[in-house]
Amino acid sequence: MSTVSVRKTEDYRQDTLDLAVANHFDALQIEKDLRPGMKVTIKPNLLTARRPNQAATTHPNLALAVVKWLRDRGAEDITVADSPAGPYHAANLRTVYGVSGMNILEGCARLNYDTGWKEIPCPEGFRNRCFNIINPLADADYIINIAKLKTHSLTTMSGGIKNMFGSIPGLQKPEMHYKYPGQEDFANMLLEVAGTVSPDITLIDAVEAMEGNGPNSGDRRYMGLTLASRDVFSQDYVAAGLMGIEPESVPMLKLALAKGLFSPSDICVTGDFTQNGLKPFRLPDSKKFLGFLPDFMRGPVSKAAALFLKPLPNLDEGKCIGCGKCAESCPPHIIRIADKKARIPKKGCISCFCCQEVCPAHAIEVRRSLGKSL
Ligand code: SF4
Ligand code: SF4
Repeated sequence: MSTVSVRKTEDYRQDTLDLAVANHFDALQIEKDLRPGMKVTIKPNLLTARRPNQAATTHPNLALAVVKWLRDRGAEDITVADSPAGPYHAANLRTVYGVSGMNILEGCARLNYDTGWKEIPCPEGFRNRCFNIINPLADADYIINIAKLKTHSLTTMSGGIKNMFGSIPGLQKPEMHYKYPGQEDFANMLLEVAGTVSPDITLIDAVEAMEGNGPNSGDRRYMGLTLASRDVFSQDYVAAGLMGIEPESVPMLKLALAKGLFSPSDICVTGDFTQNGLKPFRLPDSKKFLGFLPDFMRGPVSKAAALFLKPLPNLDEGKCIGCGKCAESCPPHIIRIADKKARIPKKGCISCFCCQEVCPAHAIEVRRSLGKSL
């Protein structure tokens, strides 16, 4: 049986989060895992330099609640580490820690500045033989994954599984998009990264989640919840349901089910929450279209249209500040900056939406158009 703990967590006040973490960890009996001298690594979602109230990154007070819980039980070697979008170097990490508020942890945990990685072999049966994993995760005795619940233009949702993609160093992530441009292959790679790094516990910050054009350009969506589980796959299945997303419409969950990585009938949801009153999340533009059609026509017409219409990034020139972050993260390197504006051709685009994910000005929308690049 896989226990998924779901608790009302009304706000980001420290006492609210301290209580939520204590209740989750009691429900999952985490205290018995702790050993003297253990190296613990906390893996938040630090996608890019976003403030806590923008709902794109894990709230720092939730990470602090976890650190306090660990320290109260004698843990001393605690590192906070993620590989955000863009180059994996100390200057980028410093900016992201500062803007996301994670630097409140300084003094009670180590903020990672080691930008090395190790090649970690994959378990038997995986398609990949190994992954490059950032040092603090590769070297940890115990991993606590703290994801942010969001919609996602490429993977439909981002929870615990997708958060482990941040174990891959910096610009090696766009390379993975290029290597696995198909939805199913990319989903399989995400499952294999999560299975290789294998977090001991995953918490999901869904106090303020994100809907619409996540993971970076969407809108804040209040849920007032946190989730925790030892089983990241079952937990994302439950989280998708809470978002009003059919789990089998999420490629990584559909594939995880097919591979037998979890079973819905073995999930036990515990805590103080009922789903009553939760409205479905708005999906990213890349995942919805033909919304003007009546429900009974959407399925068949969507399938037919998807054969001809491809979701592609579309630039709002008025918003673009010419920073070049999209070009830096584009796996096939097709984006150019000219006259302080991004130039995004259709030809060669693999519809990964890394450009939209990193754009600080929210200048990139997704539209369906005839895929000349197909
Ligand atoms: S589209 Fe966004 S990321 Fe790209 S150059 Fe313009 S502002 Fe920067
Ligand atoms: S233009 Fe954007 S969506 Fe297309 S391949 Fe580059 S990063 Fe991906």
